[in-house]
Amino acid sequence: MRDRFGREIRSLRISITKRCNLNCFYCHNEGQFFDNNRELTPEEIEKIVRVSTKFGVRKIKITGGEPLIRKDIIKIIKRIKNIREIKEIALTTNGTLLKKYFKQLKIAGLDRINVSLDTLNKKKYKMITGGNIENVIEGLKEASKYFYPIKINFLAMKINIEELEDMLNFCKEIGAILQIIEFLLKDKLIKDKYYISLDNVEEKIKKRAKKISYRRKMHNRVRYILENDVEVEFVRPMDNSEFCMHCTRLRLTADGYLKPCLLRNDNLVDILTPLRNGEDLEKYFLECIKRREPYFKK
Ligand code: SAM
Repeated sequence: MRDRFGREIRSLRISITKRCNLNCFYCHNEGQFFDNNRELTPEEIEKIVRVSTKFGVRKIKITGGEPLIRKDIIKIIKRIKNIREIKEIALTTNGTLLKKYFKQLKIAGLDRINVSLDTLNKKKYKMITGGNIENVIEGLKEASKYFYPIKINFLAMKINIEELEDMLNFCKEIGAILQIIEFLLKDKLIKDKYYISLDNVEEKIKKRAKKISYRRKMHNRVRYILENDVEVEFVRPMDNSEFCMHCTRLRLTADGYLKPCLLRNDNLVDILTPLRNGEDLEKYFLECIKRREPYFKK
C-alpha cells in the first residue's frame, strides 16, 4: 500500500499510554488530550495491529508516555508477537523499569529496545527528567546483554551537547548505538533556550566515520560507524523534506487516534470509537493513509 505521494506503509508506532513516571521538561506528548477511558486494552491493540498488516505494516514500535508502567506490557508484546505478519517489535523506554522487565520482555518476543538518555550526569538527569539515573544505567547495562545492540536516544540540546564524547564512550562500553535526536518544540521561548542545530554535530561525526551507510527504509537515515566501531545515527525531522519523503510510518495515539504525521495533530482519525462499536476498521486506515502528506516538501 502506498499513499498519494508514493510512500509505502511499513511501520506503526503505538503510544500505549500517556502516563509517565518521569517529567521531562521538553516532552512533546503524542496526541492532544487524554481521557483515561480511551487507553487501549491489549485486545484492542492486537485488533488494530492485525488490521494494519493489511496495509503493509510489518514493524511495530511501542512507546508512550512510559510503556513499561503499564502492568499488562508483557501481555501486549505477546499479543503482537502472535501476529504472523509482524516481523519486528521494538520498544522505546526511559529505562527506569528496564531492570525489572528486560528478561520478561525478551521471553515475550520483543526484538529491540531504545532507551532515552540525554546525560550521564546525575544532577542534570534529575533536572531534565525529575528522576534518578541509577536505575536507568543499571537497567541499560543488564538489558544490553540480552538486547543487542540497544539504541540510546540522545536528545541534543544546548545543555547536554558537551557530553557527546562521554555518551560515545558509554555506548562503546555497553555496545549500544547512539541515536542523536533533533529537539522539536513549538514553544519559541523553550526552543530558543535549548535548541541547537545538528549540522555541525553531524559534520564532525561524519569526519570521524570510517564507514557511512544509508538505511533507505528508515527515512533514508545515514549511519556512521566511528573508528572505535560505535554506530551513530541522526533523527532530524525539522525542515527536512528527505525525512518526510521517506516516511513509511503511521502512528496510533494513546487515546486511540490514528496519526498520519509526526508533526501534526490536526488530522487525526478516531479508530477507537469505531472499534468499540464493532465496526470494520479498514476504512479508518484508508482515511488515515489518504490524509498523509509530507510536512516538509521540496
Ligand atoms: N517514555 C519513553 C522514552 O522516554 O523513551 C517513550 C516516550 S518519549 C516521548 C519518546 C522519545 O521522544 C524520547 O526519546 C524523547 O527523547 C523524544 N522526545 C520527547 N520530547 C521531544 C522533543 N521535544 N523533541 C524531540 N524529541 C523528543
